[in-house]
Amino acid sequence: MKEPFSFLHRFRKAPASPTKRTVLITGGARGIGRATAELLLKEGWSVAIIDPQLPDADAPDQLLSLQGDVGSESDVERAIRETVEAFGQLDALVNNAGIGITRSLEELTLEEWNRVICTNLTGTFLCAKHAAPHLRKTGGSIVNISSTRARQSEPDTVAYSASKGGIGALTHSLAVSLGPEVRVNCISPGWIETDPLAVHSEADDAQHPCGRAGTPADIAAMISYLLSEQSGFITGQDFVIDGGMTKKMIYAE
Ligand code: NDP
Repeated sequence: MKEPFSFLHRFRKAPASPTKRTVLITGGARGIGRATAELLLKEGWSVAIIDPQLPDADAPDQLLSLQGDVGSESDVERAIRETVEAFGQLDALVNNAGIGITRSLEELTLEEWNRVICTNLTGTFLCAKHAAPHLRKTGGSIVNISSTRARQSEPDTVAYSASKGGIGALTHSLAVSLGPEVRVNCISPGWIETDPLAVHSEADDAQHPCGRAGTPADIAAMISYLLSEQSGFITGQDFVIDGGMTKKMIYAE
């Protein structure tokens, strides 16, 4: 259990040759965030992550792992300060941390609604706000992770869908507010299988026009592109990466 304002960090091995490009990834200990951290490390970035728990022992040694909650302004301020102290500057922010609660509207409590909005939407705002002065200096970039659920829903996911819709709107507002120094884009993933041991049916794969569910690497690749100079003319956009699922019309037989 995390104590209030405790702020542990682990940096098992500093990068051999620190580069100038530094990224902070929220929720980087697992899933899409972890895959993104691993890809960006391979590409030569210095990578810090902020997560409620420190990552498992298999996490790359070069990660600067900070323990904190993106919904806490003091944790966010401190994570950004420690990242800049460790690496000298901040060039990119990936707002990936997210939670969801499936509960009927009548049973969803205000506390649960606030928890989802606080992590997914307020956390994105807080990280952008405190990263902005550093990103303006470096001409940096932000990638926010929304969801196809900003556009379509299953029943009983109202807080999650609302938070993800908010991230899409926050993205273009940030892009217009922080440009031209800072570019801000958003990715809306579809079904991304984060558990390598999970099994899903052939029918589940087949309903995707691409023929399969997504992997964390599919999203990490797009994040890498949106942080790169090749995407220098792209800002304020929301990219759906879902194997084509939201483009497919489905009728009952
Ligand atoms: P995971 O649950 O695998 O990983 C999320 C990470 O975020 C975990 O390490 C989690 O830590 C961390 N986290 C949770 N709350 C906080 C917080 N308050 N502060 C900091 N870190 C936090 O999720 P995915 O990799 O599947 O998803 C990543 C993002 O992609 C999310 O925003 C999600 O909504 C979005 N997404 C995912 C899809 C999918 O199919 N996987 C589809 C569409 C969007 P801990 O485990 O300790 O809680």
